[in-house]
Amino acid sequence: MSEELNPFKNAQKQIDKCAEILGLDKATHSLLREPMRTLIVNVPIRMDDGSVKVFTGFRVQYNDALGPTKGGIRWHPDENLDTVKALAAWMTWKCALLDLPYGGGKGGIICNPKEMSNGEKERLARGYVRAIAGFLGPMKDIPAPDVYTDPQIMTWMMDEYSVIVGYNEPGVITGKMHIAGGSKGREDATARGGMYVLREAAKHLKIGLEVNEDNLYKPPSELSNIPDEIPKGKNAVTVAIQGYGNAGALAHLMVTRLFKNAKVIAVSDSKGGILNEDGLPYKKVKEVKDKAGSIVNYEPSKKISNEELLELPVDILIPAALENQITGKNANRIKAKIVLELANGPTTPEADEILHRNKVFVVPDFLANAGGVTVSYFEWVQNLSRYYWDYEEVYRKLDAKMTRAFWEVIKAMEEFKSKNIDPRTAAYVVAVRRVVEAMKARGWV
Ligand code: NAD
Repeated sequence: MSEELNPFKNAQKQIDKCAEILGLDKATHSLLREPMRTLIVNVPIRMDDGSVKVFTGFRVQYNDALGPTKGGIRWHPDENLDTVKALAAWMTWKCALLDLPYGGGKGGIICNPKEMSNGEKERLARGYVRAIAGFLGPMKDIPAPDVYTDPQIMTWMMDEYSVIVGYNEPGVITGKMHIAGGSKGREDATARGGMYVLREAAKHLKIGLEVNEDNLYKPPSELSNIPDEIPKGKNAVTVAIQGYGNAGALAHLMVTRLFKNAKVIAVSDSKGGILNEDGLPYKKVKEVKDKAGSIVNYEPSKKISNEELLELPVDILIPAALENQITGKNANRIKAKIVLELANGPTTPEADEILHRNKVFVVPDFLANAGGVTVSYFEWVQNLSRYYWDYEEVYRKLDAKMTRAFWEVIKAMEEFKSKNIDPRTAAYVVAVRRVVEAMKARGWV
């Protein structure tokens, strides 16, 4: 991996920048640059054909000054330690920014789940937990799903841990199936959290996005029963969404139900994009996507490329697909007033500077998509108390957390006005400062 593409080197560069702004001392800065604990395990698993295969797995506990470490487990053929270390660092800042009582962690296993049977996946999930069980626990380190892991895998892992400790311990892992202690509202938490922050960003920038108070705390099953009503006239706020998977399709549903005058005019997936300036109705587009596997054949629409979608003259652009989509090459052509990063890492550092100069407001990924970990935190709280909340309670608490984090970022931008910092740097400042304060209070540095 080249130095430039090494995510952990990039994570360290971000810390270095933040350390300079905050004037951190050397010891504090050094402690923040490296994970507190790194585990590498090799797990033998009996495959369906009778052979034994050894899988390498990782678990990184980056910093636990604010509480037990928290972060997902990825299963991917290209998984590697530097990626896991970087993701664990980013989880530390994300939890701190949302003011969750957690440090950051991350895990991974090198494997190709697409080529594995359910039985093999279950044995791998259980084997991995046995290998790291001594380092896990609701008061130590609490994993969650990530790329190619799901509520079923989390439920197997919770079960294995419970067998090891000898009692039912749902709080050891979040993102579980509902019947096994998973929280209501976890499935749509990422897109929904993004919407609550979007509402605040529009308020801040004085974009007239009208909230539909009646729908604000309804679950997706109720929201998708509401017929599409496309706003007409000049007060419509236009939206383009890149990516139509979990995050992107839910963003289409929510932005059109939570706001009265939001009009989605373009969406895309890996096959290409579609544009209709009169608006794209969620239900019909989703139906085409579910039937054909892509949105491209929805009519009436004009076919556009993914590059064209990013450069449309819309008010709000929501990248919800891949990393490195807005770069030094196209940043000058981005016309949106707000970029809401539901995807992780869609904007490169070079593009960040250009967008900030051009007064495009970027809601950084670790704020925009923090709804997932926030509802994971609510799941853990419910598991520990064995008392479960309804949808509305989860969503109201999520709204409060997201809104508070947004305005703390704005406050930090104002505090460092003389340095003209962008929202991403401001979010880092809020998060890192909180971790540092805890490290100092505990007497570490
Ligand atoms: P997903 O796999 O469900 O969907 C990805 C979508 O992107 C698909 O529709 C795919 O067709 C599309 N896509 C792929 N290549 C594309 C391209 N070149 N141009 C346009 N679209 C393209 O994934 P997801 O869960 O929706 O995650 C999307 C992003 O959001 C990722 O960056 C992920 O890390 C981030 N995210 C998701 C969650 C979540 O809860 N789902 C939480 C935090 C962050």
